[in-house]
Amino acid sequence: MKNILLIYTGGTIGMVKDDKTGALRPFDMKKIYEVLPVLHKLDCNIDTFQFNPIIDSSDMNATVWLKLSAYIKQEYENYDGFVILHGTDTMSYTASALSFLLENLSKPVIITGSQLPLGMIRTDGRDNIISSIEIAANNEVKIPEVCIFFDNKLFRGNRTTKINAEYFEAFYSGNLPSLAKVGINISYKKHIILPQPTQAFKVYDRLSTNVIIAKIHPAINEEYFEAISKINNLEGMILETYGSGNAPTNKKFLSAIEKIANKGVRILNVTQCKAGSVEMGHYEASYTLKEMGIISGKDITTEAALTKMMFVLGNYEDRTIQKQLLESNLRGEITL
Ligand code: ASP
Repeated sequence: MKNILLIYTGGTIGMVKDDKTGALRPFDMKKIYEVLPVLHKLDCNIDTFQFNPIIDSSDMNATVWLKLSAYIKQEYENYDGFVILHGTDTMSYTASALSFLLENLSKPVIITGSQLPLGMIRTDGRDNIISSIEIAANNEVKIPEVCIFFDNKLFRGNRTTKINAEYFEAFYSGNLPSLAKVGINISYKKHIILPQPTQAFKVYDRLSTNVIIAKIHPAINEEYFEAISKINNLEGMILETYGSGNAPTNKKFLSAIEKIANKGVRILNVTQCKAGSVEMGHYEASYTLKEMGIISGKDITTEAALTKMMFVLGNYEDRTIQKQLLESNLRGEITL
């Protein structure tokens, strides 16, 4: 029998109706079998751990990610898989951060949540929890990845973005198909799932928070970047550009960005598009960025770019290594 650890961090999914007042309140994870008796039918043993206090995922940050990964490290040998219940708002950031912090993962870490609380009749949380546990406890296909399970699809977590605050299809993975789909059966796309690691599991315990995301838009001017260049201790910037990595060609504007690069800030060029890749030098509008030493984020999402930057700058001091790592595919987050 497989052992699964169900970690409840907070978010909409954990809300149930108070019998007396009728109001929604967070449920007690220890009572998961009472809330979802169907879990008895799954062929696995489920232990639970609840954050204290539970948090809305808007309050997720580097400190919580490090605590979460340290907890997985502590329990790693005791379980065959981990399912994390999490609010949807920052789920893609958490999935991306954990993917970098947990190196050579050989067990599934599946993050799920819901658009409607578990205590509501049409909740999507029920199916999301059941399928996530079923996938985490699967005997034949062992997924050595941090994933997001939502609306009957299993995604590589660091490829996802939340795209919908209304419908159940809340997550999108524009540059990688889903790893599995749930229908009558669960069909796995084994050729996309990462291979089992050949080296030992390692958990990192540092992340830099001296990073920002700057989005290019038609009303932007150099003053914005002048202000950024004055931020103390800034180490990394995700530059969200147009299309295949393009930015305005205006000289004042470009030299303001160059000033930031010359201060030693690592800059990663990421597209604002939900699918496709940065190709620096393809147009004149991105050629100058390339000349400045700005690194191409290729087809990375903004969420993965930010957390990859936090991970690389937090754990490696050597600038050559930082550049090499930012350009490399570390956890399946980019297509080379
Ligand atoms: N605000 C909630 C959260 O992210 C929304 C949700 O769970 O879907 O924690």
